[in-house]
Amino acid sequence: QFPFGRRLPCDIYWHGVSFHDNNIFSGQVNKFPGMMETVRKITLSRAMRTMQDLFPLEYNFYPRSWILPEELPLFVAEVGVMKDSDPSWKPTFIVKPDGGCQGDGIYLIKDPSDIRLTGSIQSRPAVVQEYICKPLLVDKLKFDIRLYVLLKSLEPLEIYIAKDGLSRFCTEPYQEPTLKNLHQVFMHLTNYSLNIHSENFIHSDSVNTGSKRTFSSILCRLSSRGADVKKLWSDIISLVIKTIIALTPELKVYYQSDIPAGKPGPTCFQILGFDILLMKNLKPMLLEVNANPSMRIEHEQELSPGVFENVPSPVDEEVKVAVIRDTLRLVDPQKKKRKDAQTCYTKDHPLSCTKQGMKDKQHKHHSLKLSLKLKFYLKLGSCPSLERVPESSESLLAAVAAGRPEPDAGRSPEPGLPSLCLKQVFPKYAKQFNYLRLVDRVAALFIRFLGVKGTTKLGPTGFRTFIRNCKLSNSNFSMAAVDILYIDITRRWNSMGMDHKESGMCLQAFVEAFFCLAQKKYKSLPLHEQVASLLELCECHLAALDEKRLLWGWG
Ligand code: ADP
Repeated sequence: QFPFGRRLPCDIYWHGVSFHDNNIFSGQVNKFPGMMETVRKITLSRAMRTMQDLFPLEYNFYPRSWILPEELPLFVAEVGVMKDSDPSWKPTFIVKPDGGCQGDGIYLIKDPSDIRLTGSIQSRPAVVQEYICKPLLVDKLKFDIRLYVLLKSLEPLEIYIAKDGLSRFCTEPYQEPTLKNLHQVFMHLTNYSLNIHSENFIHSDSVNTGSKRTFSSILCRLSSRGADVKKLWSDIISLVIKTIIALTPELKVYYQSDIPAGKPGPTCFQILGFDILLMKNLKPMLLEVNANPSMRIEHEQELSPGVFENVPSPVDEEVKVAVIRDTLRLVDPQKKKRKDAQTCYTKDHPLSCTKQGMKDKQHKHHSLKLSLKLKFYLKLGSCPSLERVPESSESLLAAVAAGRPEPDAGRSPEPGLPSLCLKQVFPKYAKQFNYLRLVDRVAALFIRFLGVKGTTKLGPTGFRTFIRNCKLSNSNFSMAAVDILYIDITRRWNSMGMDHKESGMCLQAFVEAFFCLAQKKYKSLPLHEQVASLLELCECHLAALDEKRLLWGWG
């Protein structure tokens, strides 16, 4: 902590809320620029919708959502059509204010006309979403899962998932929504911050009872009932990877704006909190992604009316200490330096390696200190009263999370420390998911034509250059039509936009324009094939242009 400001550069910056800090030129920051904006309810819903348009089957783990107020007429119309085609469909919807958290301002409705439009929706945009009426229940209670995910790098994409998470329980037995019980938050909302106020809330020192438990304890229970937990884990891993693939295009635009390529700057990593609901049939559904998941390992206890005390929460400790410990181990700057030094020893000149050897000795001293600190942390995490999941189920989880028997099971890569709780899932499973990364490639085009570094919006000239360089204009599609397309789409996005700081075309507007061009050019194909074909065409023209420029020395 630097209460009076910081002068020296750090290896790791651990910010409380967001990336922003004016003078970081090196090291690693625990936040990505723009992450908070990217995972807000509306932005997340938009990103998921784009992916659902391209790959409807792959992205069916996110409930159907509409953005209010702008899509209220669409919401009313679509629900009307669905009800007409299936009169037995009796849906419930959940309205969630954008940027809200901890269940704040959330309510359930049975009919689109029930939306409480009076004032609030106009001034506070929201997402209205299909309510999942048949969640999996444990002890007759609804619960959700908080999983911790480490986004270690954006380029190349590196994702890790924690082997264990938290299950947060409701405090009233669940009943499917009816007009009578819609308002019962302790029955329908799993938020800890709400349920803690229920007289039924149970603080437990055990990880497998009470209102907050470990996810592994739920998995053990499901496994003993014969459920296919291996499939469940693989569905969860694919949900996480697909969600991050949906978020990366926007994140890359923010990243190049704050940390322009080719200039000194830090790298970033971030721990994200994924909120997942299991349906009765064990299908995981994404509720939301948290950019700043709570890392508290204590809870407040009311000793007497109005008098509170912080007491340790063994379940939180069990899960969260391991996540932070392993994040530090994975981004450990000493380890990186040691690795670089090793490469140097085997590859480079002997002279610099001798110097490096001396430096290594100093590093060893530092890393010993670091590992002592980590051991201390670990000790903090191990609570004698904690009821541990039996060894056999722990190793089952490890194997399941990895999708195969763990090569390092029971053996820690660093002596004295437990094996990592964070499991790499990307690039490990890249082959299965890379075909989904189309919008990422559209974002790469967008960034290329942004021109001036530090911006996030494309001007009309940039858009024209994109069309010209990719040879997309012809007798059927004149440059005047290009300008009209730019103006139409940009105006519409800016009229509903939340960011009025910069003028121009935002990434989502560019994606819409790109899809429009793809549909025009490759009429009969499914959307993802249209987009993939146009991407190939653009990338091919741009590669040829780059080659030409290189040849002629145009820089
Ligand atoms: P917040 O950020 O305010 O916690 P969430 O999106 O996490 O908002 O929603 C709060 C709670 O509402 C969730 O923890 C979950 O219990 C419930 N919930 C949210 N969306 C749905 C949904 N589509 N179906 C069923 N329950 C939901």
